[in-house]
Amino acid sequence: MTDIIDGNAVAAEVRTGLADAMDALADAGTTPCLATVLMSDDPASETYVSMKHNDCEEVGIEARDYEIDPEAPADELYATIDELNADPSVHGILVQMPLPDHVDEREVLRRVDPAKDVDGFHPENVGRLVAGHPRFKPCTPHGIQKLLASADVDTEGADAVVVGRSNIVGKPMANLLLQKSETGNATVTVCHSRTENLAEKTRAADIVVAAAGVPEMIDGEMLSEGCTVIDVGINRVEADTEKGYELVGDVAYESAKEKAGAITPVPGGVGPMTRAMLLWNTVKAAGDAEGVSVDL
Ligand code: NDP
Repeated sequence: MTDIIDGNAVAAEVRTGLADAMDALADAGTTPCLATVLMSDDPASETYVSMKHNDCEEVGIEARDYEIDPEAPADELYATIDELNADPSVHGILVQMPLPDHVDEREVLRRVDPAKDVDGFHPENVGRLVAGHPRFKPCTPHGIQKLLASADVDTEGADAVVVGRSNIVGKPMANLLLQKSETGNATVTVCHSRTENLAEKTRAADIVVAAAGVPEMIDGEMLSEGCTVIDVGINRVEADTEKGYELVGDVAYESAKEKAGAITPVPGGVGPMTRAMLLWNTVKAAGDAEGVSVDL
């Protein structure tokens, strides 16, 4: 029987698990606060931000909403970030990507106070992760670690293949799997668009993390019997539905399920975990800022 890893259930556990930390912070007179900054009128980005606000509300985190005209000069965004950095009542800052072309994304990532960088994208936080003492783990790979643990997948000594080398998913995922730690100690291969013989590599893997953004590119033929498959992809493909499309992952679910020992569905796998780990990071940021030890 293939274990279908239920991201919604694990995410609900993560949210419930935040309650003790929230209580400890409340006793110290602190409500964790996440500030989101949106400089886009893309409906998808607007939806992501509003989902993040709803998630915060559900667990008692205060969410503040900052919106900047996408036509405004980049300085307006930088000034907002500076203001939020200086505001002690704000614990986490999330600048919704993508940004307009005239804004220097790298400057934005550098500008957010690393202690409030709940996405974990600031170069200091990236460096800490690589060096093995992370402050904030980026939400998607952190959520995947939780999913692997929930399914009792032993990463120690496992051959793991990460398909994708982006800064937000592939690279930090590979780093976390590589860490000398209980949730790491894997032997990691990172694949990308120039990788040759991808199927040979995925077929030799105990754990495959698919984060390429290519609909259903990994099927059962590319997997070994009993492996664990984590599907990060969220791809819109045309379909005969009311909306005219459906969401599929980077894994051809039905054929992969025949081979895998454990697999995440899309939707309902990695997505809910990404959202839950943002809450986790925000609570951690509040604890760190207020000197309250929160056991997460
Ligand atoms: P990027 O586009 O930034 O990176 C994609 C990576 O996949 C690149 O490294 C690229 O290689 C590699 N790649 C592309 N095509 C192939 C191929 N044919 N074979 C092997 N590797 C390939 O994407 P993201 O990392 O941001 O996201 C990946 C997917 O995950 C997307 O579908 C995205 O929507 C989804 N996502 C889901 C999240 C969730 O919470 N579930 C969160 C974040 C992302 P190269 O570097 O050579 O270009």
